[in-house]
Amino acid sequence: MDAITRSAELELEIQADPARFRVLTGDRPTGPLHLGHLFGTLRNRVRMQDLGVELFVIVADYQVLTDRDVADRLAETVEGLVLDYLAVGIDPERATVFTHSAVPALNQLLLPFLSLVTVPELQRNPTVKDEIAHSRQSSVSGLMFTYPVHQAADILFCKGNLVPVGLDQLPHVEITRTIARRFTERYGPVFPEPDVLLSAAPVLLGTDGTKMSKSRNNAITLGATADETARLLKGARTDADRHITYDPVNRPEVSSLVLLAALCQGRDPVAVAAEIGDGAAALKRTVIEAVNEFLAPIRARRAAYAADLAYVRKIVQVGNERANAIAEQTLSEVRRAMGTVY
Ligand code: ATP
Ligand code: MG
Repeated sequence: MDAITRSAELELEIQADPARFRVLTGDRPTGPLHLGHLFGTLRNRVRMQDLGVELFVIVADYQVLTDRDVADRLAETVEGLVLDYLAVGIDPERATVFTHSAVPALNQLLLPFLSLVTVPELQRNPTVKDEIAHSRQSSVSGLMFTYPVHQAADILFCKGNLVPVGLDQLPHVEITRTIARRFTERYGPVFPEPDVLLSAAPVLLGTDGTKMSKSRNNAITLGATADETARLLKGARTDADRHITYDPVNRPEVSSLVLLAALCQGRDPVAVAAEIGDGAAALKRTVIEAVNEFLAPIRARRAAYAADLAYVRKIVQVGNERANAIAEQTLSEVRRAMGTVY
């Protein structure tokens, strides 16, 4: 079954019994969150939380070092991520927000998990290949290569079974599923095999026509000003055909802009394209207006929370304590299953 069909099926299962699910998902603190995050994963996180699913949000700080030598201004970037979470509606009363470097027992899962995958399996991972191609490093580090295994530890330490992510994460979650399955075969049942939950925008493109990414200079961030948003969207790549259509396969850049307007307006992209009719300038005017209108309340909330950074830091401290308690519990189950209790 493909991931889109499975996501639709999952929606029904979640609505029927939200308590059966636990969400683990998160972001690298490599910069502020953008519209790709919002429509690819953040909205699903908030929706799950509001349906009554328990939500864990990981700030994957070690993973910043997969594609660069040093992590600049980490504390500041982490605060920015938490502000983005609060602004879109993640509720720290119900959700656990934590940084994985602060959870030693989580990281300890990496060792047994590494023994459950082969080097060719890691070499085949298309997302790792893509990230290597965009990396700032001249050669691949061991951390980059084993990134999906670390991610398996992130998901499985809290027995997350639902992972709302963008399309780029599918191969990673597949490795997590393999690791969970093999762990069960070798040592017995400790971990679930998690499912991916995709959104209607599994890969939103940036202003250059490639996947919108924090580290590729092509993103509209949630915290940007309305003017900056307008400037960036005016410079977005389109194509030579003046007539605006929604045709993601043949016209990815134009279609991504149409989709963005449609998502912001809660409308069907085909209808949005038809209404625009002709001209890249008209398309951009529509998108700029839709995005700025949609983001205005999110930006206002973000600015309000930014006035209380002590509260933001407290959220992470509380989240880290909770994540540590859960990780230690899971690690003790792993020790029992593996026979390493002395
Ligand atoms: P970086 O360039 O530093 O890797 P990123 O923009 O790719 O940053 P991540 O922190 O790697 O962001 O990804 C966090 C989550 O957001 C993942 O679930 C990923 O699938 C999702 N995501 C990121 N970019 C997009 C996008 N353009 N469209 C849909 N989902 C996205
Ligand atoms: Mg990424």
